[in-house]
Amino acid sequence: MHSNYVDCQNFVKDCENKSFLVELGASLFAEKNYNLVNISRDLNISYSNEKEINSEKNGGLGVWDGAEWKIRFVDGSSSSWYDGILGKAKMIWRYKMGLFSGKTLAFDLAEKFFHIYDYLNNDNHYLFVEDILSNLNLTWTVESTAKDFFLKKGVNENFVDEIIGGLVRNTYGQYVDKITAFGGLISLYSAVGEVYSSKNGNMNIFKEMLEVSKNVNLKLNSKVITVEKKTESGEFIVTTADNKTTVFDIVVVATPLNKVKFDNIALPIQQVEYVTVHTTIVIGKLNLNYFKLKDYKELPESILIPSSADCPFNSFSIKTWINGTDAAIVKFFSPKKLEKSLLEQIFVGTQQVYRRSIEAYPKLELKNLNKWKTPFQLTEGLFYVNGMEEWISTMETESLSGLNIVNYLKNKY
Ligand SMILES: Cc1cc2nc3c(=O)[nH]c(=O)nc-3n(C[C@H](O)[C@H](O)[C@H](O)COP(=O)(O)OP(=O)(O)OC[C@H]3O[C@@H](n4cnc5c(N)ncnc54)[C@H](O)[C@@H]3O)c2cc1C
Repeated sequence: MHSNYVDCQNFVKDCENKSFLVELGASLFAEKNYNLVNISRDLNISYSNEKEINSEKNGGLGVWDGAEWKIRFVDGSSSSWYDGILGKAKMIWRYKMGLFSGKTLAFDLAEKFFHIYDYLNNDNHYLFVEDILSNLNLTWTVESTAKDFFLKKGVNENFVDEIIGGLVRNTYGQYVDKITAFGGLISLYSAVGEVYSSKNGNMNIFKEMLEVSKNVNLKLNSKVITVEKKTESGEFIVTTADNKTTVFDIVVVATPLNKVKFDNIALPIQQVEYVTVHTTIVIGKLNLNYFKLKDYKELPESILIPSSADCPFNSFSIKTWINGTDAAIVKFFSPKKLEKSLLEQIFVGTQQVYRRSIEAYPKLELKNLNKWKTPFQLTEGLFYVNGMEEWISTMETESLSGLNIVNYLKNKY
């Protein structure tokens, strides 16, 4: 592993003598993400569908186009904004039946997708990522954009731009008219489905898994520089940044391909383009004028940005109000660094600002399956987990990709 810690993209900070946990990313998993749910249960890691931090909440949702509110409600609830009664009334008025048809389509997709467990849990394996799509009858999900798909299904256009588009910007930093139908449906599922977070951060799931795993030799601070294949023996020589080399019969690559140099290996695929996401966490007092509001109680806890809107950030969420003050902990995702001058407009005063940028996920764009397939085995003995990310990027799907490779190895050797 590259870093000196198990890298799970989250962040803990003491503030006002309290400890707050704000995950930088990968904060949610779904009820039927059986690998994550089962392992959490087996390892006694508690998870819940409450929001990341318990605190006084305004709840609710706003759709903000950078200048005006398209819809806004606060309901004081800590449950999902999708299901609150007040919100529902307002959303039906603006989005008509899109509210229900969108949800049905997201649940239909999830039902089809969850059949993957039947296949993999019976020790089967797929050769190509695209074989999963055809096996589950989901090829259509990468052959049409989310926008075309939802509009063809008769979903209200404002709903597609503002709610699905806003969720796509939040979840994948991408746009509803470019992302695949699958990317759009999964983004919507994060709002309509039951989703969980581990109480003390999802990183604990992976830390605990390492704790209980026997015969695992985890090498921290070991950045892999090259993987070279020896022509005669077929073995792999792995060289790390400290110039140490180790010989392996089988190598499983679990990073994007461009993180490692391959020698004497003709890769059958190219690295796909990744989206860079800037996460900014600010502790500060929000400037109500920026949001054209008069009272903090009017500000929704989650703000989505329509796909068509010109706004410097892709999402805004209040993680908690700091008790007894007007200050809040706010998390933004944005395509570029949020400059100090912008933060000075959004906040009256900032106490602390944390930033992290990450090559987050591949661009989930349309695929011509006749032209390009992504194999789980790149060459004899060299396996690739992250090919799955080109189709959909989540912790659970990465774990399924890992399971597929384990089955592949069991069946082959
Ligand atoms: C901002 C953000 C929000 C997200 N939200 C969610 C969410 O709510 N729910 C969800 O399920 N998913 C979410 N995801 C997606 C999820 O994080 C990824 O799908 C998942 O982390 C992919 O797992 P991975 O192990 O393939 O890659 P990573 O988690 O990226 O791990 C790759 C590891 O390889 C190491 N590495 C890289 N190069 C080298 C090298 N040369 N040598 C050695 N080690 C190396 C890295 O340090 C890292 O530890 C989010 C992602 C981001 C960025």
